Amino acid sequence: MPEYKLGLEFAQQLDAKDAIKSYRNQFHIPKDKTGKNFIYMTGNSLGLQPKTTKQYINQELEDWANLGVEGHFEAKNPWLPYHEFLTESMAKVVGAKPLEVIVMNTLTTNLHLMMVSFYKPTKTRYKILIESDAFPSDKYAVESQLRHHGFDDKEGVVLWKPRKGEELLNYDDLEKILETQGDEIALIMLGGINYYTGQFFDLKRIATLGHKFGCNVGFDCAHGAGNVQLNLHDSGADFAVWCTYKYLNAGPGSLGGCFVHERHAHNKELNRFTGWWSHNKKTRFNMRNEFDQLPGAEGWQLSNPPILSMAAIKASLDMFQEVGIENLVKKSKTLTGYFEFLLKQLGEDVIKIITPSHPEERGCQLSIQVKNANKNLHDKLTASGVISDWRSPDVIRCAPVPLYNSYEDIFNLVEKLKAILDE
Ligand SMILES: *Cc1c(COP(=O)(O)O)cnc(C)c1O
Repeated sequence: MPEYKLGLEFAQQLDAKDAIKSYRNQFHIPKDKTGKNFIYMTGNSLGLQPKTTKQYINQELEDWANLGVEGHFEAKNPWLPYHEFLTESMAKVVGAKPLEVIVMNTLTTNLHLMMVSFYKPTKTRYKILIESDAFPSDKYAVESQLRHHGFDDKEGVVLWKPRKGEELLNYDDLEKILETQGDEIALIMLGGINYYTGQFFDLKRIATLGHKFGCNVGFDCAHGAGNVQLNLHDSGADFAVWCTYKYLNAGPGSLGGCFVHERHAHNKELNRFTGWWSHNKKTRFNMRNEFDQLPGAEGWQLSNPPILSMAAIKASLDMFQEVGIENLVKKSKTLTGYFEFLLKQLGEDVIKIITPSHPEERGCQLSIQVKNANKNLHDKLTASGVISDWRSPDVIRCAPVPLYNSYEDIFNLVEKLKAILDE
């Protein structure tokens, strides 16, 4: 970590030394009415569009136009195995083996499919543990799974809550919950990085702990994929799901990713929902066969996938391959560290950063609580050219993305915030 300094010149020096700075030019950066770039801080919500995406999608549109159904075999990137072109690079991004990873469906759908396999309640062990401030979709999904199995959706949810007056979750509290209720909990399902606080959990520690108490463990890594090194395989988690439209820059509503740990890859006893795409590739088109389960994460697919969306994912993953997730994370730590340094200059009585200060316990996002603030502050920030995210009652979430945000972006952002606070 460099020693940070004040002033624009220092920001520009950091940009000049940035080993991956050229990637910023490979993205479309939204502009205001006067043609000036916005300071885009919402890559945690919708990542920006790589300039190559259009080309990747156009290739498939052209092949479709020229080849029709033959495109399944004859397209430049044949559609039949198209998802396989994504597997290896996606596996690298999340730290998994190719056998463990599949791009399919969307996040909440995948979460349900994973719960079909890994939420197996019994009369005495049926509860699901989640974070008290889980992303709403995850909470709704979990509650509906409880109802689906005939359990009460309030009584069946165990919440891991922050202590009074605190924002972050404490592992001692998780241990205590498991010691007292562990034998009633069938599944632990947490955000790998909490979407609100930006707290990056120790996935391995949680998975190990959960397994010790006989629980299955899964993570929603929507805020982790493409942001931090998840090391999903080594975490030992049973499953993980994520989306590709946040840090993976694959476009609004694009397909999700799914991880199933290798130790489940060949277990045909594991209950699941299936379709023709979970069937053996060699005999899939005979159309008459008895069901023959594909091994690995691929064996959870249902349908033939949307190629146009996958083309956008391929455009993004090819860039991630080129840059390397290690290099991204390296810049990310310096960029967010610099952001934190500048925010602290505004006075810790005015600004409180909820996100953990330890770089290993967060990704790029900082969640900033501003004293006595209301949405007015956020509106002014937007009017001044900053796109950030407001969570009531008083939190601004900003995610400097190492692929396309610069140190100068951060400098300007904090200057604007300071000017508004000084008014
Ligand atoms: C973004 C996000 C989602 C969104 O789910 P979709 O099914 O893609 O709409 C769900 N969970 C978390 C934690 C998220 O951050």
